[in-house]
Amino acid sequence: MSTEDKYRKIISIMHNVRFLCLPPHYPSLVSWRGGPASARSLLGGAGGGPLGVYVNVPFCRTKCSFCYLDVSILPPGDGGRVARDFVEGIGLEAGMTGRYFGGRKVSSVYLAGGTVNLLSGEELGAVIRAVRNNFSLAPGAQISMEANPDFFDGKKLDLLAAAGVSMVMIGVQTLDQRVLDGANRRQNAGKVPDAVKLVRAHGIKRVGIDLICVLPGQTAEGFMKDVERVAALRPDQVHLNRYKPVRGRLPEEERRKNVDAQERGFRLLAKRGYKRIDEDSAVLDVKVFNAQGDPDFQLSADVVGLGPGAMSRVRGRSRYQNFSGLGEYLAALRAGRLPVMRWVRLGPADEAAHYALTRLLDLRRVDAAALAGLFGLAAASLVLRRLGPLARSGLVKKRAGGYEAARDGDGFCAGPYEITRALYEKKYLEAAARNYGL
Ligand code: SF4
Repeated sequence: MSTEDKYRKIISIMHNVRFLCLPPHYPSLVSWRGGPASARSLLGGAGGGPLGVYVNVPFCRTKCSFCYLDVSILPPGDGGRVARDFVEGIGLEAGMTGRYFGGRKVSSVYLAGGTVNLLSGEELGAVIRAVRNNFSLAPGAQISMEANPDFFDGKKLDLLAAAGVSMVMIGVQTLDQRVLDGANRRQNAGKVPDAVKLVRAHGIKRVGIDLICVLPGQTAEGFMKDVERVAALRPDQVHLNRYKPVRGRLPEEERRKNVDAQERGFRLLAKRGYKRIDEDSAVLDVKVFNAQGDPDFQLSADVVGLGPGAMSRVRGRSRYQNFSGLGEYLAALRAGRLPVMRWVRLGPADEAAHYALTRLLDLRRVDAAALAGLFGLAAASLVLRRLGPLARSGLVKKRAGGYEAARDGDGFCAGPYEITRALYEKKYLEAAARNYGL
């Protein structure tokens, strides 16, 4: 295989692996190193800027057939010990990581998974207390969580409201019970309207709903009915996530149909008063959205990930991922070590490449002065030098002191491979190739 074919394959694999709701990362985690690393080497000397805490709750009642996340299945009644261990682990990890961020204010705490509200109100309250006790929360910091509509009751919601939860994102995926059953998702579609009312009635005013565009067994018309029914519930935010198969890629024709369905969904939401704020979500009020889902927050904030499998990003310093198994995660913490499974150390040039890559692939402008201001002249020059040949080939356009990705006839980025190839550090592509045995 030629070097170019090898890189094309690696980039194609990396762009097919999406870890939604986790901190975005560069380079792809297939380039990271395994083995231990100290908290000081990964977190020491963290700079300033926005700070978030992400808590990964990787437990579910059943495994949905469309899910690619690494979750453990908790049979009914078996959650007690697991939940106690999980809460203990979060307390230890928050204590170990929080001290590196001094007085920096946390503007967003996000609990996701998994099925977060499989845990009791008391357990979730203890998790949030551990974050509050070890980090400094900004006044009015958003505390949001993902939830399944089946696992709420009034008492749990009272405890969550008292703990400061200000937004609940309900993972509905579809309101078609037949499709849910076919996907092994144990969820009662009929409970969704009551769950939205219940959350609001117990003092959590902000509600989001997540749908997936055209799940297996569903038609585009069925998906549009979902969007119509969800809009009638008036959630503050609606996510229309594109469907991605657990393995491989959707055939191109299917992918385009999925994107079309998503666009039709957003057009319908616009008619119902929603404004689109990014690739996959729309809101009623542009000031009310899940902060950690915001692409600008993802690109500009440090995020400390707590819990099994969580990923952390400390700009200009590191990315790392925790052990995904609860046993290994807790054993490391009880032994006084950060539970790191794999990690990578990064510098300003990596961050500049990540910033430019993300913005260009999202069809957003990269401003040369902003790049230098954020990452320094040397890092910015390196990125701009790499964009030069792409500008000459027409895959990026030079405009008013910056660059934009050219679009193809359908409005998509015309050269995602070429842009990624130009900006990715060769050493990371080589590390990824080694890990894939190429
Ligand atoms: S409930 Fe969510 S996290 Fe759990 S298996 Fe289903 S899709 Fe995955």
